[in-house]
Amino acid sequence: MFNFEDKVVIVTGGARGIGFAIANSFAKNGATAIILDLNQDVIDDAVKKIDDAGNKAVGFVADVTNSESVKAIFKDIFKQFGKIDALINNAGITKDGLLMKMKESDWQMVIDVNLKGTFNCTQAVSRFMLKQRFGSILNIASVIGIMGNAGQSNYAASKGGVIAFTKSVAKEFAPRNVRVNSIAPGFIQTEMTEKLPKEVVDNYAKAIPLSRMGVAEDVADLCMFLASQKANYITGQTINVDGGLIM
Ligand code: NDP
Repeated sequence: MFNFEDKVVIVTGGARGIGFAIANSFAKNGATAIILDLNQDVIDDAVKKIDDAGNKAVGFVADVTNSESVKAIFKDIFKQFGKIDALINNAGITKDGLLMKMKESDWQMVIDVNLKGTFNCTQAVSRFMLKQRFGSILNIASVIGIMGNAGQSNYAASKGGVIAFTKSVAKEFAPRNVRVNSIAPGFIQTEMTEKLPKEVVDNYAKAIPLSRMGVAEDVADLCMFLASQKANYITGQTINVDGGLIM
């Protein structure tokens, strides 16, 4: 158990999948989980699930690619809660295809959500965290950003970019006691990976030393540690949650 009592934690893409597991874990450990996501109904369901369990969550509709609306929402959150303890940049999409056939719009959309979205939210939170002189930012990257994958050049570029971004921002923010780390999940069971054909999933599982896909809570558990004071000497790192896929 971690103690996030009185902590305010923002999770982008927090209404579903890994993001929801992260928001839910923070809330179970006492935090107010602030979910930013695209769809009001899905956000309402996520907030209700957390509320029904007796924990605290609020939701805002936000598209992380829109820098102006992101800035306005972060300003509102700071005004309402008086501080922001952690930001989890989790919103992400895939638009897979071989490079030869990849549409420019599919390249751009993935870069916009995964990389520019991370930039937008990090920049928006920085004005508050740097002034507070505390905070933890966790960027959800991917093992694909480290090892690449045929058919995912856009996704790999975005996630490799997130890892490099993390290191630079960690260096900029360290003097103000704001830590920035990345998490690189391997293959985690969510709606994103449910789209994969069974044989692809079976092949991936064979390549994973622990012989199975992970669950969203595996990623959430690492978030709890990295956002906590137990990790207060860790910054600029990328930690894999991948069953040993990359060593
Ligand atoms: P899901 O597709 O299940 O959930 C992603 C959430 O992000 C959805 O609620 C989605 O909304 C939301 N979202 C998408 N675009 C935006 C946007 N522009 N602004 C705000 N919210 C947005 O994905 P996962 O839970 O599987 O993935 C979460 C993160 O983990 C991603 O960054 C992904 O790249 C990463 N990851 C996942 C792995 C896996 O195996 N699942 C492996 C490695 C990394 P909507 O549904 O309405 O589009």
